[in-house]
Amino acid sequence: AVPSVATALRQVKLDKESELRVEVGPDTPLRLRLLTGSAEIFGTEIAPEIWLNFPPRLNFAVFTWYGATIEIDGSTETDYTADETPMISYVNVHAVLEGRRNRAKASSSDSDSSQGPRVIVVGPTDSGKSTLSRMLLSWSAKQGWKPTFVDLDIGQGSITIPGCIAATPVEMPIDPVEGIPLEMPLVYFYGHTTPSVNADLYKVLVKELAHTLEGQFAGNAESRAAGMVINTMGWIEGVGYKLLLHAIDTFNANVVLVLGQEKLYSMIKNVLKKKPNVDVVKLQKSGGVVSRNTRVRQKARSYRIRKYFYGLSNDPSPHSNIANFSDLVVYRVGGGPQAPRSALPIGAKPAADPTRLVSVNINRGLLHSVLAVSFAKEPDQIISSNVAGFIYITDIDIQRFEISNFRLIAVYQKHKGQLPGKFLIVGTLTWIET
Ligand code: ATP
Repeated sequence: AVPSVATALRQVKLDKESELRVEVGPDTPLRLRLLTGSAEIFGTEIAPEIWLNFPPRLNFAVFTWYGATIEIDGSTETDYTADETPMISYVNVHAVLEGRRNRAKASSSDSDSSQGPRVIVVGPTDSGKSTLSRMLLSWSAKQGWKPTFVDLDIGQGSITIPGCIAATPVEMPIDPVEGIPLEMPLVYFYGHTTPSVNADLYKVLVKELAHTLEGQFAGNAESRAAGMVINTMGWIEGVGYKLLLHAIDTFNANVVLVLGQEKLYSMIKNVLKKKPNVDVVKLQKSGGVVSRNTRVRQKARSYRIRKYFYGLSNDPSPHSNIANFSDLVVYRVGGGPQAPRSALPIGAKPAADPTRLVSVNINRGLLHSVLAVSFAKEPDQIISSNVAGFIYITDIDIQRFEISNFRLIAVYQKHKGQLPGKFLIVGTLTWIET
């Protein structure tokens, strides 16, 4: 019998306002190109005739407003076309945001009205938050704005590696394969992939990030008018919900987009009644969003770290190095033994301050940890400092006081190959190279 058509070169015709949803197979990449008409991938138009190469496991949709023919080459886990999508409602949101940007730009630069939309996207896991953020950013960049993307998702964030919160201006529609460019992000290292490990630290870092951005906006009318799109975590119960409200408040969000959950929408709407200048909008989740279980999420985190250290091309060990650890100081933030409140004298604060720095000995226990390199010049600046990049410790030679073969990819290219500071932060983030 003839094997399934999955590996053959084939064409797909898309009617207007429909999309081709693709899950690339687990082992082999996929090529795709636009033959006729026009189409976009998560808000970024694709050029005609040019083959795009997608790595294994990527999920995406090619959407067309007016009709298109697509050619695919390679095997997929699944691919199908869908003509029911929430794209019209998404692009309507975009149109409203554009109006606000134009009004902000037209008003005098010192007034409040010169602030463009600050959009925060919330919803349960796998509701399409990252995807919607991406579309809104790409559509607006296509129109010449440079909106700021803020990613508060420490589990499945898309700016640097897991365990971080970060922000970056988006100057061009986001590349469907490469994702967010890594040129100049502002990154704070939390060090864990769930907020419950140290929720207070998470809040402190969110505040730091917001404060730094606020300073940048003050001096830059263009980016202030373009505004922000803020992606959040899918953790919406209990502490997760409190963290969402904290983020809305800290970033002074004026548009809250709630994806795929009625209950969350009504809770937030209710809480924000007191703030008439904040719009809470309910949006439908796309049927194309792929649910990811714990294992898949773990894999995705690992893939992001790999991509960060090796690049998409899988270039082996571009920046292997040796550092002398007598020059380095490693800290863990928070933690330490926590005395139960009941054991403390009345009025005393627990010793486990969430932002307390605990110095960590460099030993083989740090193998496979991913550490952040802080820009701090003094230890007391570590909490409020953003990070320059990350190192992954592949070997430690205790006799020679050396961390060998660590890999550093500085967020700031100019630091490539050498540590831009001597303070390292370690959390619970690890990575096993496979
Ligand atoms: P999390 O809470 O885990 O961060 P999320 O709500 O941000 O999830 P997304 O990351 O946007 O969800 O989407 C989940 C997955 O579904 C992603 O791999 C994304 O590429 C894919 N996806 C989203 N929309 C579509 C679509 N229309 N067609 C195909 N795949 C899609």
